[in-house]
Amino acid sequence: VSGMWKLTPSSIPLGNGISIGGGNFTIMAGPCSIENDAQVSEVAGFLKSNGVFVMRGGVFKPRSSPYSFRGVGIEGLRYFHSICKLNGVLVVSEVMEPDQIEAMYPYIDIFQVGTRNAQNFSLLDALGRVDKPVMIKRGFSGTIEELLYSAEYVFSGGNEKIILCERGIRTFEKAYRNTLDLNAVPILKQKSHLPVVVDPSHGTGIRNLVEPMSLAAVMAGADGVIVEIHREPEKAYSDGIQSLCYSEAEQLFDRLRQTVSLK
Ligand code: PEP
Ligand code: MN
Repeated sequence: VSGMWKLTPSSIPLGNGISIGGGNFTIMAGPCSIENDAQVSEVAGFLKSNGVFVMRGGVFKPRSSPYSFRGVGIEGLRYFHSICKLNGVLVVSEVMEPDQIEAMYPYIDIFQVGTRNAQNFSLLDALGRVDKPVMIKRGFSGTIEELLYSAEYVFSGGNEKIILCERGIRTFEKAYRNTLDLNAVPILKQKSHLPVVVDPSHGTGIRNLVEPMSLAAVMAGADGVIVEIHREPEKAYSDGIQSLCYSEAEQLFDRLRQTVSLK
């Protein structure tokens, strides 16, 4: 971390010859929650045919209410991974506690640390000891500096494959779910060499804000976006309100590529 010198951006290998950062723009997309194997096959095929090679999907879901859907668990991660592997698509999924790491390890390409665990220091310490990339989401009440310190936990444990993610913070504004803090992007890029991904789905909580804020993220200097999509958003097990249907996702991917080429 440094404010004094222009840092050389790191490129982090994700697997399958795909890397993030260092000038690449990486699109990650998929449902908030993995629901079943048919859904995974369909989404993985959709992504592949659109040139997107990283699929997101939660199998352990941190829900505000314990009565909401809490995920298909490790069994779901197994089929998620095997179907993605057949399609040449990488898997990113949230790990909620250190005890899950070992079971998840064979079936995952990128460990996601959720906003609620951004300062779960025992989890960050444990992820410092793995050799797979870790994407750390900013805490919804966390400062930019605190996000960088969370990255330092993983880094100081020996894992340098770290991706930072701005996913919106809590403010007084009630017109949307979270305030996507795009100021964080250039600041993180100045202070750190690590790739910065923007999550416009959780950062807005509103489907029709996802595209404009994704495009804004490109111009702010983001190295990628992570976006929630669903065949029928109104039927999604979680976060349907902010999920794009396939046609909206296709339009977003096209516009993102046009915008990246303008930079
Ligand atoms: C998610 O990616 O579905 C998620 C729960 O994200 P966050 O931790 O940012 O709320
Ligand atoms: Mn979600």
